[in-house]
Amino acid sequence: MLKKLLTLSVLSAFLFTGCSAGQIASAEKQEDNKINIVCTLFPEYDWTREILGSQTENINLTYLLESGLELHTYQPSAKDMLTISDCDVFIYTGGESESWVDDALKTVSNPDMKVIRLMDVLGDSAKEEEVKEGMETEAEEEEEDSDEPEYDEHIWLSVRNAELLCSAVCDTLCEAVPEQKENYQANLNAYLEKLDSLDKEFQTMADTASVRTLVFGDRFPFRYFTDDYQLDYYAAFVGCSAETKASFETVAFLSKKLDELQLDTVFVIENADTSIAESIISNTEQKNQKIVTLNSMQSVNAEAIGNGASYLTIMQENLDTLKEALHSHE
Ligand SMILES: [Zn+2]
Repeated sequence: MLKKLLTLSVLSAFLFTGCSAGQIASAEKQEDNKINIVCTLFPEYDWTREILGSQTENINLTYLLESGLELHTYQPSAKDMLTISDCDVFIYTGGESESWVDDALKTVSNPDMKVIRLMDVLGDSAKEEEVKEGMETEAEEEEEDSDEPEYDEHIWLSVRNAELLCSAVCDTLCEAVPEQKENYQANLNAYLEKLDSLDKEFQTMADTASVRTLVFGDRFPFRYFTDDYQLDYYAAFVGCSAETKASFETVAFLSKKLDELQLDTVFVIENADTSIAESIISNTEQKNQKIVTLNSMQSVNAEAIGNGASYLTIMQENLDTLKEALHSHE
């Protein structure tokens, strides 16, 4: 009780000695003397969480897309812009759908902000979007302004990329919070071991698969993934094309692939409209293929995170799905 009274009197002294708004603001800032880390996409957020580990009293970690808005449709709100402008560490992927970041970084008020663009970390291993036989393309208008190569931004879907990217995130976090360096590095090493064993499990799954071709009745963000394990694919649309309508030619091409290769699965990505997959199936000879979802982590929301979703749990689900789909059941 005495303590409470004391606190109250100190507080009123503070309030009634005519201090300016500026002083109050700086007192608030002092009180919230935390390291602010902002991540755009879910994988970055989750990796950062893993590296920070349990000692996060002095950390504010923000996942910008926690509403679950798909990364290709997200645009930052005014509040998001403010959060970015004075953060200490900003981590983004840097693909086409994050072109808004350039503008956001122009308004930065913290001169010491550390920024990581993960596609730069990959350097030459970043891949251009691949247009494959049978795909719906975005017609001629694309060709006109195609001097610049379009890079596939779904870099996190390679577990091997994830290992590289996590190491880069760790380096930056260590610079931002040097007193936690040893801690972060230990957390990184433990996490890299998990990624490594996941990678080996995917490799074993692929090596022992009776089917090595995936047909997507959908967009195809998994190129980094299938390349890692020498799996082949066909898809209705490139990367994350904004197209939603598949022509009869595309549907017929994919149906024929299912027949030719005797495949019993059509893949879609999370939150997909399955109508294209259904059309593909109805044009096959058997008409009894299953539609199966692979999660590309493009719209993981706060609720899913609250229920335990992580990069590892989602990739593990993808692994289980692929084991079931690509291995013979005869
Ligand atoms: Zn995408």
